[in-house]
Amino acid sequence: MVKEVVIVGGGTSGLILARELGRRGVVATVFESEKKVGIKADRASGILSASGLSKLGIDFSDAIVNSLYGASLHAGRRSLHVRAEKVQAYVLDRIKLAEICSREAVDAGAKVVTGKRIGPKELEQFSSEGKIIVGADGGLSAVARWAKFPPIEDHVLTFKALFEKSERLIEDEVDLFFSERFASGFFGWAVPYGKGTVELGIGTRSGSWNSAEAFRRMLKEASVREAVGEGKMADSKASIIPIGTRSVTAKGNVLLVGDAAGQVKATTGGGIIFGGACAMVAAKSISRYIDNGEPLERYDRMWRKLYGNDLSMHRIIHAYYSRAGEAGVEKLLWLLNILGMENFLSKYGDMDRPSVMVKRFFLRNLAD
Ligand SMILES: Cc1cc2nc3c(=O)[nH]c(=O)nc-3n(C[C@H](O)[C@H](O)[C@H](O)COP(=O)(O)OP(=O)(O)OC[C@H]3O[C@@H](n4cnc5c(N)ncnc54)[C@H](O)[C@@H]3O)c2cc1C
Repeated sequence: MVKEVVIVGGGTSGLILARELGRRGVVATVFESEKKVGIKADRASGILSASGLSKLGIDFSDAIVNSLYGASLHAGRRSLHVRAEKVQAYVLDRIKLAEICSREAVDAGAKVVTGKRIGPKELEQFSSEGKIIVGADGGLSAVARWAKFPPIEDHVLTFKALFEKSERLIEDEVDLFFSERFASGFFGWAVPYGKGTVELGIGTRSGSWNSAEAFRRMLKEASVREAVGEGKMADSKASIIPIGTRSVTAKGNVLLVGDAAGQVKATTGGGIIFGGACAMVAAKSISRYIDNGEPLERYDRMWRKLYGNDLSMHRIIHAYYSRAGEAGVEKLLWLLNILGMENFLSKYGDMDRPSVMVKRFFLRNLAD
């Protein structure tokens, strides 16, 4: 019997999954609640590592807004500056990225249905028809709720705005600001889009102040105002980032991918690279199920084997800097400076995979 696959959510994770299934000869239907894919994607930022993007195989060149070579981390009176010779990351237009992913999915044979919200009634129907259901519907996943998956325990509330006519001097590096005075349990960021536009954003732990209030507090800082180059605030949006993976992501005929599964770097909230990589694993698992009857639940083990350690390391680093507060991070930056880690991170840093960075660190020391 031909198994049908229904993907709930036309974000990057769902669309990459649909593309990968299509390339394996499995036709999937993606249901997206918004009228067009990507309409709300620009509530989030689009900083993606060059190395991670190359693994997702998206033809993203039309979505590039800016290229980034480095970052400065600020806490109290200390800063750590890291800069590489090659492009480390791209700032992508999130709406264009979603459109490209949708085109690639359709070209591979998937169906993308927009303007259709899937609720419990439709999910019951799909299930009774023996369909494979994938929840790619974000951190507040309706599929996860309906199928009674364990919850994601921790979230960060976000607020971001664009500043135009900025006189910011450095246009190819980001600034990150750590301080519990405004960004409790997370950080603030300034990302240059080039041509006088800068995105300023903040994440704050749910349970502390709301994100708009945190943003207003952050803007009082002189270093933050300097980072936006005294530009004029043009557009603002609030959202939420799930921090922490679900303990179960596959059950019976239901899988979760991307933010719905919590496949997010807890350090930065970045979820596109890991969500996309896990979507590729889900495609493999679904096609093995269809071809050889391998249980769908294997997906859970497969993605954790590949990416579980890195996501755990991100959670440990996040827990450290959340607990340490501004003074603790300030001390850490001082220590990293003294240990010459600026040079090491400039050369061997990896935004996505701390495990790769640790290996490089030990290999380098063995070679010395
Ligand atoms: C402020 C902010 C900044 C960020 N910055 C970055 C960054 O720089 N780099 C990075 O990698 N990540 C970043 N992220 C995280 C990134 O946006 C997410 O990890 C990524 O969008 C997850 O993709 P997804 O497809 O899993 O889920 P989503 O992008 O949330 O997509 C889910 C889709 O499902 C649809 N949907 C929801 N419910 C239903 C339903 N019932 N029926 C049908 N459709 C439904 C939604 O409309 C949406 O289109 C940021 C997030 C925020 C909030």
